Amino acid sequence: MSKRVLIIEDSKSVANTISLMIKEELGYHTTIGGSVKECAKLLLEFKGRFDVALLDLGLPDSNDGEIVDFVTKFNIPIVILTGSTLVEDKIKNKSKNIVDYVVKDGIYSFKYAISVIKRIINNEKAKVLLVDDSRTFLENTKELIERYRLTVFTATNGKEALNILKNNKDVKLILTDYYMPYMDGLELIRKVRKEYTKDELSIIVTSGVKDKNTASKFLKYGANDFLYKGFTSEELFVRINANIELLELFDELKNRANRDFLSKLFNRRYLFEYGNVLIKEAIHKNQKVFLALIDIDKFKSINDTYGHDIGDIVIKEVSDILQNHFNRGELVARLGGEEFCILFIDEDEKSIIDRLEILREEFQNKIFDIDKKKVNFTVSIGCSFKEDKDLDLMIKNSDELLYKAKEEGRNKVIYK
Ligand code: GH3
Ligand code: MG
Ligand code: MG
Repeated sequence: MSKRVLIIEDSKSVANTISLMIKEELGYHTTIGGSVKECAKLLLEFKGRFDVALLDLGLPDSNDGEIVDFVTKFNIPIVILTGSTLVEDKIKNKSKNIVDYVVKDGIYSFKYAISVIKRIINNEKAKVLLVDDSRTFLENTKELIERYRLTVFTATNGKEALNILKNNKDVKLILTDYYMPYMDGLELIRKVRKEYTKDELSIIVTSGVKDKNTASKFLKYGANDFLYKGFTSEELFVRINANIELLELFDELKNRANRDFLSKLFNRRYLFEYGNVLIKEAIHKNQKVFLALIDIDKFKSINDTYGHDIGDIVIKEVSDILQNHFNRGELVARLGGEEFCILFIDEDEKSIIDRLEILREEFQNKIFDIDKKKVNFTVSIGCSFKEDKDLDLMIKNSDELLYKAKEEGRNKVIYK
């Protein structure tokens, strides 16, 4: 479901500009109001279902920022729009939901507001691990970071931290102290870096040590960033954002190289590079690996009948369906054209056949509504259960069975 941003701003031109930018750059919905009264009405109308609120402090019917109280009641993250660089502490401390302040001074400040909104919404997926032997520091910092909608774990020492990391492989950022009992920050970094590179997991060190060499030492040994304790909440927010944004950028670069542009599935290159690694690993663990090939039947006639663009959408739809069916750790790739490949690890033959049969049937029964045209088609599937240890061979074997499925009239799963 698309996200929705609440904008409360009495200048119509500012509200409309920001709204347009949110729609165009982020693709989110927006709802605009110009006063506290309108805000209250909108909150009721939408039952408080906004993902972020952008609130102007200088409204005709709001003094003392009561607009903030209203929105806080619905537990919506708040970005404050203000006309002045001096935001009173009274306002700053008003709500735990306030994430950031944006001083309205033209298009750059609006762009910044957009990036903060994007950050808050994307953060819902990101996890952060805080490591510090001071419980007060942990609690205070956790509370701060949770304002940015990140999921926060805390650990009071390195050992505990490594345990949490083991059970939450999707932690994106570690914020760690230097001096701690059992294992100090340096040792923790050394251990974490054995498994995660700097572009997979970001580490920010926070320390009260005033020695000028501390920061460079940590940066050399694998930290991504360093923050002296006593940092402001704004500095923390900016650093965390910068680090997470960098990780996302790396992810995107990797995706561009490893994924097929149209289908967003893994591409052929990635399949051959990583597939063989997976196969070796599975053999090492005494697990079975099997491979299925899936090919759209008479795809050429879809192109001929409806045009190449609709053919492309069909490929995209098929890819989404494959991704939905095979999301338990199987490797799903587009081999090329309208041919796809699924690599099953540690799954028995019977279960694979059942799942492939369910998939075949889904296509047989489904009518796609594309560009007001009803499109339907079937797929043929070949799956070899020979115990081969090499991707090329596995593809060759399954391809023979796929060919057989085509020969026998298509819309079939053939396995052996
Ligand atoms: P069969 O049932 O035997 O598989 O017949 P088919 O028509 O599906 O197979 P064939 O291999 O003869 O034709 C595949 C066609 O897919 C030919 C090619 O032009 C088209 N194609 C390949 N890649 C793409 C693509 O990315 N987009 C679109 N729209 N068409 C593609
Ligand atoms: Mg085909
Ligand atoms: Mg083909």
